[in-house]
Amino acid sequence: MRKTVIVTGAAGFLGSHLCEKYYSLDCNVIGIDNLSTGLESNITHLKKLAKDHFFFLETDICEGFSKLQNSIPQEWLKNLTYILHFASPASPPHYQRLGIETLWVNSLGLSHCLNFADQHNARVIFASTSEVYGDPSLSPQPEHYWGNVNSFGERSCYDESKRFGEALIFTHNKKHQTRHGLVRIFNTYGPRMNPNDGRVVINFILQALKNIDLTIYGDGLQTRSFCYVDDLISAITKYADSNLASPVNIGNDKEFNMLELAEIVIHELKSKSKIRFHPLPADDPKQRKPDLTEAKKHLNYNPAVSLQSGILKMADWLKNIAHL
Ligand code: NAD
Ligand code: UDP
Repeated sequence: MRKTVIVTGAAGFLGSHLCEKYYSLDCNVIGIDNLSTGLESNITHLKKLAKDHFFFLETDICEGFSKLQNSIPQEWLKNLTYILHFASPASPPHYQRLGIETLWVNSLGLSHCLNFADQHNARVIFASTSEVYGDPSLSPQPEHYWGNVNSFGERSCYDESKRFGEALIFTHNKKHQTRHGLVRIFNTYGPRMNPNDGRVVINFILQALKNIDLTIYGDGLQTRSFCYVDDLISAITKYADSNLASPVNIGNDKEFNMLELAEIVIHELKSKSKIRFHPLPADDPKQRKPDLTEAKKHLNYNPAVSLQSGILKMADWLKNIAHL
């Protein structure tokens, strides 16, 4: 009997890759999305290709599952295995624009997922984030680091709702003897990011392809570690299949500052762009690099795609969709 997997945030960057992955693993896939930051075009191919095994519902997950329950084949729910809760604005400009929605989707939305999963003996995997570490005073960041987070600032709607989500999973598991889990995702990029997303990799690649100035916020010495989407998706499926209920960092542990990233993008894309400095947004973390010891140990995880080749793959995709 086919497994059924629910993906919230299905029309988003990561959600659409997860839908595709689980469809390729012969699952029935139910995608839920309110299209607040995602693109319907991310899943049109699945709607056509997989119409007997892919069902999409446009709705806000904060409204719960009653709409879904009335619209999908009932036998699909008999083998509901995973709910991957990936719905949430994820880029700083979008989660700041949708601050209240971000707070609710990572708390109330997650709570609906946990309760629905319990009714069907399924496992929830929650998309947490490296932002739970805030502006870290320790690098690389291991899972046992508690973080340095401002609860009352520009990033707090995102950071604190993800931290609440983690606490909800811990407490729910303890009370109900369940094994729901979470992954802490570090900066991931790849095809199907919304061109208006605003995160640094897609901004730089778009700017380089148009030969316009790359926008560096601050002095460009802040660091991030960038993971290509294929590496992340394979780790998430392994985490889901495991019995883990504790947080595991997933990302790539090669660290770059934003000046280095700009230089690599310009070089790889043979662009004529220069760089231009802009003010640094409030509370922008100065460094970020995952300690991947846990992922290596439990998931046999080793990110394989270099930043250079990931940038080229993403640029090829962008050239096609944005006709650059
Ligand atoms: P994204 O913006 O491309 O996708 C998020 C999707 O969720 C969008 O399609 C959006 O329309 C949908 N959504 C938002 N609120 C919703 C709601 N209330 N109901 C239904 N759908 C809703 O972002 P992404 O990069 O794909 O991120 C996906 C998840 O992974 C998020 O939870 C994010 O916090 C987490 N994450 C991503 C990264 C990354 O680097 N991409 C890093 C850390 C964590
Ligand atoms: N950034 C930048 N130029 C941009 C977009 C972002 O220099 O056009 C910087 C941003 O200030 C941050 C880093 O790049 O220091 C990563 O930003 P992003 O929004 O991708 O993710 P996050 O800050 O959440 O890690």
